[in-house]
Amino acid sequence: MSVRVRFAPSPTGFMHVGNARTALFNYLFARHHGGTFILRIEDTDIERHSEEAVRVIYEALKWMGIDWDEGPDVGGPFGPYRQSERLNIYKEFIEKLKEKGLVYECYCTPEELEEMRKEQLKRGEPPRYTGKCRNLTEEEKEKLRKMGRKPVLRFKVPEDRTIVFEDLVKGRIEINSRQLGGDFVVVRSNGMPVYNFVVVVDDALMKITHVIRGEDHISNTPKQILLYEALGFTPPAFAHLPMILGPDRSKLSKRHGSTSVREFKEKGYLPEAFTNFLALLGWYPKDGKEILSMDELIKRFDIKDVNSAPAIFDTTKLNWMNQVYIRSYPVEKLTDLIIPYLEKAGYDTSNFNRKWLEKVIEVTREYLTVLSDAPGYMETFLKDDFEVSEEAKSFLAENPDRLKVIELFYHKIKSLEGELSEEKFKEIIKEIGKELKVKGKNLFMPVRIALTGKMSGVELPILVKLLGKERVLKRVENSLKQVNL
Ligand code: GLU
Repeated sequence: MSVRVRFAPSPTGFMHVGNARTALFNYLFARHHGGTFILRIEDTDIERHSEEAVRVIYEALKWMGIDWDEGPDVGGPFGPYRQSERLNIYKEFIEKLKEKGLVYECYCTPEELEEMRKEQLKRGEPPRYTGKCRNLTEEEKEKLRKMGRKPVLRFKVPEDRTIVFEDLVKGRIEINSRQLGGDFVVVRSNGMPVYNFVVVVDDALMKITHVIRGEDHISNTPKQILLYEALGFTPPAFAHLPMILGPDRSKLSKRHGSTSVREFKEKGYLPEAFTNFLALLGWYPKDGKEILSMDELIKRFDIKDVNSAPAIFDTTKLNWMNQVYIRSYPVEKLTDLIIPYLEKAGYDTSNFNRKWLEKVIEVTREYLTVLSDAPGYMETFLKDDFEVSEEAKSFLAENPDRLKVIELFYHKIKSLEGELSEEKFKEIIKEIGKELKVKGKNLFMPVRIALTGKMSGVELPILVKLLGKERVLKRVENSLKQVNL
């Protein structure tokens, strides 16, 4: 039997990292086994599902390098793949449950249910639906309808059944039907079927073999197993992925920083680094190799190696991984990704030669943690009309030799014939040292200030080589204007 798995997000408007990890594990599992990965949009719970919210899901998955074999946009043999387009299918299966006498109408109001709950808690009992409406007569129902009440449909939970499943991550799970909170709702009073019901119908009809999802769904699984049985379907295998916690071991939330995929993308995490990092949230390869491409992840991924203990979202590790990827990324691709950050920072990048920009990125990439750091680190290369810092100005004012160094440097560059190479620059500095009898800080720092306006930064030979003679002269003029006042 070939593997068929699905990722079934609700279009909430953003893709949480937990969902992204679920998508990734399903994808890795499918690809590892040469199976099928399905995208299903679960939009029955959503009041108003917007196209934009669905697009957010597509965009996040595509950015992560995840593609799907069946889904709303690509179709497939078991569609439609949006639950809001499957309502007729659900009706048919609700009818089946009705015919079998496995569901009944419940007219209890939210106030009555709340009252029931309070009394149970007062008695020290776990809250559950008592089955009050299980045996209503036709007349009683009619009376309630006349009162304007609209029924929900509840599923008759068997009295004392032990429901068992072998979770591929958590191991054997047993739960007694008494612990399920009584007969649960399968269709709301507005006629909409609920998640636990539609997910079973869809997974069965779409021939899903393995349901891989977050641990927060474990409590739904016994209810779903009862529905599989009631509808005459065989349940799939289940694998519940461990929770993702923040470094303080509380549930990962906004408090810990970004939690949506789009935010990570916007900050400038590379998709390969982000995906690689997510893969290690709850799974670890046997060989301990941590930097892994998608292909390598697919090759190594084994659901049996997923840890049942919670995974910690460690931003320091993510940052480290991103640095590793930035350093080895193809420079052309890196440049494409960095250009929008430069534009956002106010640079008109069409003013720079593309090859030159790539060279600058080549020498600055090792300082970057995220791509949004790039404009800051690249400024030294991009901006000729910088301001000389106050600290630098007072440094120059301390000793008249320092200004002389700048002036002599300017003249030597001006009269230079041919290219300003790294070697040429080093020679010129040496000459200045000899001629003015200065060395160390008194020699290098004035040149650095003249070229950058700052007292620290990139290596000067690299900078001058990339700037070229004309821009070096322009910069020195700009600095001299500011310090000669
Ligand atoms: N729509 C559900 C969610 O987003 C899917 C759960 C499942 O995979 O069964 O959590």
